[in-house]
Amino acid sequence: MKSSLLRFLLVLSLFPVLRCTGDARGMFKVAPAGGYALTFDDDSIEAWYGIRDLLKKYQVRATFFVTNVEQLSNSQIEMLFKLEFDGHEIGFHGRNHLELNQYIRENSLDDYIRTEVIPGYEEMVADGFAPTSFAYPGGSRNKTADEELLKYFKIIRGVSESQRHVPAHNVDKIDDVFYDFDGNRIVNGLGIDNHLAISVDDLTTGFRRALDRREVLILYAHKPSYGDSAYTINIPYLEKILKSAHELGLRSFRISDLVP
Ligand SMILES: [Zn+2]
Repeated sequence: MKSSLLRFLLVLSLFPVLRCTGDARGMFKVAPAGGYALTFDDDSIEAWYGIRDLLKKYQVRATFFVTNVEQLSNSQIEMLFKLEFDGHEIGFHGRNHLELNQYIRENSLDDYIRTEVIPGYEEMVADGFAPTSFAYPGGSRNKTADEELLKYFKIIRGVSESQRHVPAHNVDKIDDVFYDFDGNRIVNGLGIDNHLAISVDDLTTGFRRALDRREVLILYAHKPSYGDSAYTINIPYLEKILKSAHELGLRSFRISDLVP
């Protein structure tokens, strides 16, 4: 069991770090520019921490949407603090990764907010985080839930529905993964994990569109690894993506940077 005293001392010891992060946030205003937002979901904290240098190398500011918060160890919390200090965003991805529409078939939206959102959010706050963004577990959402959750978060990331129907080599035609600074607080991500088989050239068509139209291409993945299994993203592939974006001069946005 984790000691709450230990956790309190850890939070206290990192307070100057948190204060610096808060100051750094203020430097980044929303400005329409061609870019991309790289996001990761779930709880592969060590794997996320393991690509810290890679993200620095290409000046990426990623967003990590964390779930199963109650089970985080102190060392994982410390890793998330360090990622935040590097300039990344820590968002919220549900307390127990319950998929919304599946859950509310037998329960209500109120139940979802009361059991999945509020307690998990409070656990994050108790750990020293202040999430302003939410990603739906499994991308499962509906409009009523969007409205309710936007009372708690300034922006929500879902997943692209169009991705299922448009061939991967036409990333530039998947309209719902491009954010055009219209103030919409619901954005959708394009999945780039291994099993989705999007080549670097495919993605570059999307990067070019973002550059030409001053849009932001929203991306999501799960666990960085050197393998090629589903729901992981191969690290050398990820590096090629980041290099392509960097060479085009695309700006990297955290999800909460997209709205005032
Ligand atoms: Zn997830």
